[in-house]
Amino acid sequence: MDFFDELISQLQKEANKRDSFIVSPAEWEAFLDPSKAVKKIELEMKKTVAENVQNVEVQTAASFFDLADLQKNIIECRGCPLAKVRKNPAVSYGDVHAKLMIVIENPSLLDDEENRIFAGEVGNLLDKMLLAMGLNRGECYITSVVKCRTPGNRPVDGSEVRVCREKFFDMEVKAVRPECILAFGAGFAKNILHREGTISTLRGNFDSYDGIPVMSTFNPAYLLRQPAAKKTVWGDLQMVMKALGLK
Ligand code: SF4
Repeated sequence: MDFFDELISQLQKEANKRDSFIVSPAEWEAFLDPSKAVKKIELEMKKTVAENVQNVEVQTAASFFDLADLQKNIIECRGCPLAKVRKNPAVSYGDVHAKLMIVIENPSLLDDEENRIFAGEVGNLLDKMLLAMGLNRGECYITSVVKCRTPGNRPVDGSEVRVCREKFFDMEVKAVRPECILAFGAGFAKNILHREGTISTLRGNFDSYDGIPVMSTFNPAYLLRQPAAKKTVWGDLQMVMKALGLK
């Protein structure tokens, strides 16, 4: 049985014993039927975007982070040569008031094809990880440092990072101002924090970015290939939960 399936099952049993749920019964029900869960998350994401668009009408320009506007600007961006490679840039999504920001280095080929960061099996695993934390995607802000995929999924280069973060990412962090950043893979630590090392040596401790605690850990895509590392990642996620007051 998958580590996170087993973990969620145990958490559910514990919650039932206490006659309380760490997530709502509806979320558990959705989890037991993954197709419903995906639909629910998509609905929540659409609802969040719709609410954000609605908020434009009631908030001043100075105080508002316009997610819909950001998404439009990303889609239209031709700021670096990756614009010629991509089919779909990775538009950020989720709750602009989220406590937790989830960051990847840049989208995969599948993300590009399906027009969604964390598409496919990688996304399904992310949903399980978040459920074990008592969260879902709609409650987080999901983004990438570089918005477009690279040819052959090669690592992003310094100029791509510089241009894209100046156009989008730095502003997103300032606007969302999350309580914690969960960075999947070593890309954030290397490109933003300028730290050396592999994800194995970088994970397990908080870094700080502009005063925000950052936990780097293995990417769900890696966990699909190396399921034995899921337990290690759960340790990192528990530290994030603690930082967010979820545990
Ligand atoms: S990677 Fe960033 S800067 Fe380059 S084209 Fe895509 S969105 Fe624009």
